[in-house]
Order: sequence, then structure tokens, then C-alpha cells
Amino acid sequence: MVGGEPIDRREFFAANVRWPRPSLLLEPLPLRGKAAEAAQRLGLNTVGDLLEHVPAGHEFRAGRAIGSLSGGDEATIEGEVKTVASRPTRRRNLKIVEARIADESGSTKAVWFNQAYLAKQLEPGMRLRLFGKFRGGAFQVREHRVLGRSAAADDQMSGVVAMYSSTEGLKSQRLRELVAELHGLELNVIEPLPGRLRAKERLIGRADALAELHFPRSRLTTESARERLAFEDLLFQQLALGMRRHKRNAGRAAISLPPQRDIVEAWRALLPFELTGDQRDAIAVIDADLSTNVPMQRLLMGEVGSGKTVVALSAMLRAAENDSQAALMAPTETLAEQHLATLDRMLPQVPLALLTGSTPAKRRKEILARLASGELPLVVGTHALIEPTVEFRRLAVAVVDEQHRFGVRQRAALDAKAPAGIVPHILHMTATPIPRTLALTGFGDLDFTQIKELPSGRRPITTRVVGDEQRADAYEQVRTQLREGRQAYVVCPLVEESEVLEARAATAEAERLAKTEFRDFRLRLIHGQMSSADKADAMEAFDRGEADVLVATSVIEVGIDVPNASVIVIEDADRYGISQLHQLRGRVGRGEHQSYCLLFGAPGSRRLRAVAGERDGFKLAQIDLELRGSGEELGTRQSGLPRFPVAVLPEDNLLLERANVVADRLMTADPMLEHPVSELLREAVVARYGNEIDPIPA
Ligand code: ADP
Ligand code: MG
Repeated sequence: MVGGEPIDRREFFAANVRWPRPSLLLEPLPLRGKAAEAAQRLGLNTVGDLLEHVPAGHEFRAGRAIGSLSGGDEATIEGEVKTVASRPTRRRNLKIVEARIADESGSTKAVWFNQAYLAKQLEPGMRLRLFGKFRGGAFQVREHRVLGRSAAADDQMSGVVAMYSSTEGLKSQRLRELVAELHGLELNVIEPLPGRLRAKERLIGRADALAELHFPRSRLTTESARERLAFEDLLFQQLALGMRRHKRNAGRAAISLPPQRDIVEAWRALLPFELTGDQRDAIAVIDADLSTNVPMQRLLMGEVGSGKTVVALSAMLRAAENDSQAALMAPTETLAEQHLATLDRMLPQVPLALLTGSTPAKRRKEILARLASGELPLVVGTHALIEPTVEFRRLAVAVVDEQHRFGVRQRAALDAKAPAGIVPHILHMTATPIPRTLALTGFGDLDFTQIKELPSGRRPITTRVVGDEQRADAYEQVRTQLREGRQAYVVCPLVEESEVLEARAATAEAERLAKTEFRDFRLRLIHGQMSSADKADAMEAFDRGEADVLVATSVIEVGIDVPNASVIVIEDADRYGISQLHQLRGRVGRGEHQSYCLLFGAPGSRRLRAVAGERDGFKLAQIDLELRGSGEELGTRQSGLPRFPVAVLPEDNLLLERANVVADRLMTADPMLEHPVSELLREAVVARYGNEIDPIPA
């Protein structure tokens, strides 16, 4: 063959070469009856399915001589059956089978519970391998196997042993035996990763990885096998996200907004403060995005008070500079008004209007006309901005504040406000930190920018967990602040699912505090059952300093900014999640005063300790993910992290970072993986994520 000489069929098949025959993997599993049904429940129909059913983990089982066993040992032993007997126990339904097993070093009684049928199958003279625990002078058998029936399976009970997730009727041991019978067939799996990529990333082949997991040699080798498959899981997902993003942007253009005249320059020169380094970096990255006609989709993350609005305004002014328009949408009227105030303070001679549900009809009509004509370059508002009657002449930039509070539809509606054939550049903003793991896996169609640095002059908030005995001290600490002229928030317990109960509890707490702890101070109450007008009234009174203490439910909004408030008390803090606590804490520490956050709750709580010990919202979000991710199944699902056949997040974070870099590299050169070298890779990604590669329709 090498020399080009012909080869006949027999010679060809007998040749010592290996080539994959994936069709062999489509053969049905050699199972019948109950076992076949059980396999189906696990999604195992073909040989390939079973080989892809990688072990959930591995267990190390020491092989021991019978004579050396002592109490409590877990071990694998091997020996000859001398006698077999079965007998009932005092518990009526429980039968046990006993056998005497001997090797050269000694003998022991082996015991099986509740498997009476074994009495018929085991015979003196048989050689058995047993795994179990030596206890009370007997070897309690968890798994056994009769030796000499299948050489392949004989190896599978000591040393590093594969443990499969099993089901009723198909136990881990049976799966292991079944896989052993298929040993060799794993060589037929397809290798989707191009050779160069594998060499560069030092990844073992797919077939070898599967073989190593099913037929482990050592703990070290199983780990590199697991890593190979976990990497592949994560790479496929990153590639799917990248392909989806590429498809979404294909054929769509935004208006390119290069630096033009000097509006932005002049504005920056007149800002009443120095931009922080992170703000400058964010502005530079966004400017680069805006100067092309590839639609920007960027998420700007930054703690409350980190100064995201300035960054947004810079982007909005770029639109104005290019004779286009920009809109900023906030989830509530209060926030929209606050934005207007912030922008007004910093804005040069560029017209700006506020459009919300409460804008009077006449004013509204006028604003709509000016937006449609293009005469009004900048607008700030609420959902009112996406109503059908609102038209823009040339919407080039849309900013969505607190983006997670809007649905996909609402964001798409804002997209649709740009002139036909054009999509706006979109800047999403959030103060809810999204840990990087989640950002990478969940938001693949966004780019990310973080503002970490707070404007100078802000002092870090001191946080303390307050147990029952220290409550009196804590209230005294609050009063000390109030006497110095500061203000305080008291946040009442969260009542899941019931705003009514929550409101009632807050009302009662406000009355109690007014009569007791804070009888010498002015209190106001705010909760979710009050009308918007009443809420705004309470908020404004507190803002103007007409109240010392604001008793609130969890409704006190993200973005509320009262620099004179220096202390926040959170009742029953255990009921809140880590990121909620961090958000609530962000209500204080917004002025030049040293601020305090007092978490009333159990001092032992890991979540409360985490919040008290860490100020960085992104680190807290990561801790939150870990505390929840490492919990039970439900916790993992709640964490919002995707699940994979082999990879486990957040534990496989480092692999995720690597997969992300590799995916970027592959897709920069070939965004839809169309090069022949990537063909198998693309097929594998499409096979797994086919439906998700198409973008969400607007
Ligand atoms: P957020 O990120 O929560 O939206 P804002 O943009 O509302 O924060 O900014 C909070 C406050 O900080 C505003 O009053 C804003 O004017 C001010 N600010 C923003 N950037 C700076 C800075 N670099 N130095 C000082 N103050 C700043
Ligand atoms: Mg804000």
C-alpha cells in the first residue's frame, strides 16, 4: 500500500492499521427486557451512547489479601468459594447468603444481603472477586464478580474503578461490565478537534480519553482524560455562542459614529470631576465600537455609584456629534428622573428631554414630533420610549440601564426604533455583578466592560453581622449617626411571594421603631403596596433630609442616591441572597461620610460572613455562584450555569477561560467554521447546539 502496489481485500482487513468505523457505534446495545428499558431511561440505546456515557467519577479500591483484613477496611479481595449457605434473619423479609472465601493468606465469611438467588449461582470451587467492607468478622459484599468468564471485565474491580450514574435495573457494576464487553469499540469515535489544536492545547485524543475514563489506569490519567472531554464541552458551547453572534450580526449594520466635531471633547473638558481610569477605558472601548458599523452589543457592569452614566452619556453624545440620535431607557420613572438630573448637571448645549408615562400629553406630543424630525438628539425615559407612537429619525445609540429588568422583547422593540435596515449600537448597563463564569457561558452575544474603580473620595463601607445579643448596641450605633446629622435606612425582612405580608410587616416595624429605638427621630415608610406617588413622596422627603430614618421593604431601588445616608440596617438578612445584600448595602457609602452596613442575622451564616468580608461585588457574585453551585442539583440549576456532559461549572473555570480563548482564535479566522479543517468540529457543535445557533427573533 505504501509503495502504491495494489492490495486485496483480505490483506487489507488483516493489515495492522487502525481506522475508525463510526457506523459500529450505531449498533444497538446487547441488552434485553428490564435492563434494556433501564438503559433507555438513561438515554442509552446504541453502543455509541454507552461509550459516551462517561463515568460520573472514579473510586480507588485497594486490593487486599484476606488474611490482612481488619475491622472497617474497604477493599477488593479475591479467592475461592469453599462453602455456600443461605439463611433467614430475625427481620422477616431479609435473607442473607453466606459463603466462605479463601486465598493463600486466609479465609473469611462473605455476606450478601437480600440476594437469595445467589445461593443457587455460587458454587464451591468458583473463584470470586469481591468488593466490600470487612466488619464484625465478615466481609459485607457490595459488588462481586465470578472470575474467568470475561477477561476484559475481570480487571474492573480493583485499583481505580469507574463509577457510573445508574438507574433502577441497571446498576453501576452492570454498566461497567457492559462497557468492558465493548472495550476496543471506543476507537471508532470521531475526533472533532483538529490535530493542530490538540497539539497546541496538549489534549489527548477523544477515543483515548473515553478509554481512559472507562478503563482507568491511574487517577492521574483519568484526570487528563476528563479534562480533555470537559474542555471539548466548553469549547463547543463557546463556538455555538460565537456562531450565533456572527449570524445575528450578519447583514445588519449600525451607523458608524467616529469622533467628529468637538462636542465630546468640549464636554469632557467641562466635567466637574476627573474621570476614573476605568471610566476612561470604558469610554475608549465604546468609542472604538461606535466608530464601525458593526452593531455594538456591550454590557457595562459597575457597582452602583461607579459612574456608568457618564460613560453612557459619552456614547450618546457621539450620536449627537454625528447628526444622529440616542436614547437612554431606565426601568422606573424615579431612575429615569435621576438620570435626567445627572445628565443635566453634566450636559453641554445639547437638547435633552424626558419621556415617561407621566409626561403630560401636550409635552409628550411635542417630544414625539421632535424625535421624529430628528431635531431632538437625546432622550431619557422609561418603557414609554418603546411605545409604537415613538419614532426616531436616526436612532444610532440605545442605552438600557439595569438591563436585566427588561425582557428580550422590550430590548428588541428598542432595536426596532432605528431607521429601516439599521440597528442601533446598544449599551446595556447593570449594577448587578455578573460573575465571569456566567458572563462567558450565558451571555455569549455580549461584549463586557467592567468599571471596578469607584470615583475617588468614597470611603469603603464597614459591614458587620449583628447577632441577637448585639442588637441594642447596633441601634445605638445608628442613633449616633443620626445625632451627627446623618440618615439611616432600615430594611425589613423579605417575604417571598407576598408583597402584602411584606408591606404589613414593614408597617408594623416602622410603628415599633417610632415608639422605641428611634422615638426621638423622624421616620418615613416605603413599601411596594404604596402608590407610585406616595413612594416618590417618601423618597423625596428622605432625599431632602426631612426624614432621618427610612423604613423600607426590599423595594428601595437600585440607583437611589442619597449621599447623606450613612447607615443601613438589614433585618433578617439571612433571607436575602448575597447579591441582593450587596445591592442594598450600596444605598450607603455614596457621599464623603464613613458608612456602615449592619446585617441582623446569624453570625455563623456563610453568606452573611461573605458579604461582611468582601466589598467587591464581582468577587461576591463569584462566591455566591460557588456556594450555590457546589450545593445540590437544584442549587446548580438556580445558579443559571449551563450543564454539560462532562464539564462542571464553576469548578472548571480555568478550562472555560482556555476554551474561550481558543474559540476566539478559531472564529477570528473562520467565524462559521467553514474551513475543511474544521468540518468535523462544526458538525459536532451543530449536532449539540444546532437549535441555539439561530438568533432569537426580534
Ligand atoms: P451608576 O454607575 O450607579 O449609574 P452614576 O453614573 O449615577 O453611577 O454616578 C454616581 C454619582 O457619581 C453621580 O453623581 C456622578 O455625577 C458621580 N460621578 C461619576 N463619575 C465620577 C468621577 N469620576 N468622580 C466623581 N464623581 C463621579
Ligand atoms: Mg445608574
